Amino acid sequence: MQFQSKQLAADALSKDIARLAKLQDKLYADGRWAMLLIFQAMDAAGKDSVIKHVMSGINPQGCEVHSFKAPSEEDLDHDFLWRAAKRLPQRGRIGIFNRSYYEEVLVVRVHPELLPAQKLPAIKDIWKQRFEDINAFERYLHRNGVLIRKFFLHVSKKEQKKRFLDRLDKPDKNWKFSVGDVRDRQRWDEYMHAYEQMVRNTATVHAPWYVVPADNKWCTRLVVASAVIDALKEIDPKYPKVDPAKRKALELARGMLKSEDENGRQAGQKGLG
Ligand code: ATP
Ligand code: MG
Repeated sequence: MQFQSKQLAADALSKDIARLAKLQDKLYADGRWAMLLIFQAMDAAGKDSVIKHVMSGINPQGCEVHSFKAPSEEDLDHDFLWRAAKRLPQRGRIGIFNRSYYEEVLVVRVHPELLPAQKLPAIKDIWKQRFEDINAFERYLHRNGVLIRKFFLHVSKKEQKKRFLDRLDKPDKNWKFSVGDVRDRQRWDEYMHAYEQMVRNTATVHAPWYVVPADNKWCTRLVVASAVIDALKEIDPKYPKVDPAKRKALELARGMLKSEDENGRQAGQKGLG
């Protein structure tokens, strides 16, 4: 996708945001499907800004974002999908996972020293088993009406450095930086291997991965917006049909409203005073 100027990209995005808002309204009214959007990426790939921009037109009542950080003691006392399962969206809603259970085959794979804290009875074939468990979980969700789309925002190592330096240079961006981010950057190749394995083993028809180029923020936003729109169009949510009994009730309400006098009283109704 080539855009001559940011303005053209901004125009395209605002049209997509309007489409998305309309589709979300129908998803909510339809009430049969939930949508789960998963975002994974290296630091500074722009997860937060994609979520902020693409979802900017959406009714906040129909959308929930969860950021998954390092697991708490309580999380570690449960199976690895437990904390994500508690945050799944209700029917009619869009749930966004900013990081997710996929960290269990990413950061934990690159840092196996995190595993003992998980108190697992056995860790033989753990990555293979986690892929199987994730696939089974997502198939279960799909069968129960959860529409899943997964995004790996793929920033280059060069662009990450530029964004890290920007975070260090600008006082209002300092808070976004942590020394651990640079340490993870030093394990870049291991992370890329983990991401590749993740995509290869968990991309399915009902829960596909989109590997989105993330060096150009406008491009990232447009790709994510159109993937979300396409997914919603596939399920084609509809406003509930009005049955004859409901139609009659609506007509009755219309008649009552029309027959009110200027004080809001029904014709023939006496006032209090
Ligand atoms: P930003 O891009 O703004 O830095 P972030 O998503 O990196 O946002 P942070 O608070 O910086 O948010 O980092 C969250 C950290 O939690 C990440 O380093 C991530 O790898 C870690 N994390 C998430 N889930 C797990 C998990 N299951 N096990 C271990 N670490 C995890
Ligand atoms: Mg971070």
